[in-house]
Amino acid sequence: MRLDPPFVAQGETVLVRVNGAAGGTVTTAAGGKVPLLPSATGAWAVLGVGLYVPLGNATITVTGTDEAGASLGAVSARYTVVDPARPADYLVTTEETAAILTPEAGATETRLRGEQFASFDATPRWRTAFRHPVLGFEVSTQFGSGRSINGGPVGDFHSGEDLAVDEGVNVTAAAPGRVSWVGAMPIRGNSVIVDHGGGVKTGYHHLLDTAVVVGQQVEGGALLGHVGSTGFSTGPHLHWELTIFGVNVDPETWTTRTFPH
Ligand SMILES: [Zn+2]
Repeated sequence: MRLDPPFVAQGETVLVRVNGAAGGTVTTAAGGKVPLLPSATGAWAVLGVGLYVPLGNATITVTGTDEAGASLGAVSARYTVVDPARPADYLVTTEETAAILTPEAGATETRLRGEQFASFDATPRWRTAFRHPVLGFEVSTQFGSGRSINGGPVGDFHSGEDLAVDEGVNVTAAAPGRVSWVGAMPIRGNSVIVDHGGGVKTGYHHLLDTAVVVGQQVEGGALLGHVGSTGFSTGPHLHWELTIFGVNVDPETWTTRTFPH
C-alpha cells in the first residue's frame, strides 16, 4: 500500500493505492469506512483529511479483495497530519447579514448537508486536474481560514474557497460529473452540488440562479448557474467547496494536482 503524500496538512487530500487488489475497504483514522475502487494499476481511493483532525500520526487500515471478492487480508499504513498554518479572516458584515446566522439556520444547513452527503457515485469521472469554476476571479478568502465575524472570536474554519467576481458571471463545473443536489440553503444560499465519483463532490454556493437539474450529466466547463450573493454573504462571490465522502478539503489543490485513478 502506498499513501501519497506521507505528510499531509489538515484540509488536504491523501491518495491511497493498493497494487494487486481489485477492490476492498479503507478504515480511516477517524474510524469511517470508504470503498477501495478498481483502477488500471490496482485498487485506489482518495481520502479527505479534515480541518479538525488531530495533528501527528494517523493510521488507516485497508482490507483488499481480489477479483472474486475474496479478502486479501488487512494492512495498515501511517501518514502524518501537519499544521497548514492557515490565516485568520476578520469578517465584518451588516447587521442584516449577521442576522442570517441563527441556530435554526444552522440546524437546517446541517440537515441539508446530511442529504447532500448521504450517497456517492462510485466511478470517478475526472481525467485531469479540476478547473476553476469562474473566470477572472480573485481569491477573497482562502479555504481553511480561521473566521471571526464582527469582532467575535476566531471560530469555525472556512469550508471552501471564496472566488470574488461580479454578479451574473457564469459558474461552470470544475470537472465531469452528475448534478446530485440543487436548492436553497439558509447559509450557503442557492447551491448546486456535482458528484464526480470516487467520493468526490464539488459545491457551488451563494448563486444568483441555477441552470441545471438533479441527475443531469455535466462535462467540465458546463454552465451550472450564475454568481450571486444569496445566503450568508457580504457581496457577489462564489463559495466553492470540494468534499471527499463529506470531508471538506482545499479545492485549490485539485486545480494544480491530478489525482489519478
Ligand atoms: Zn466562503
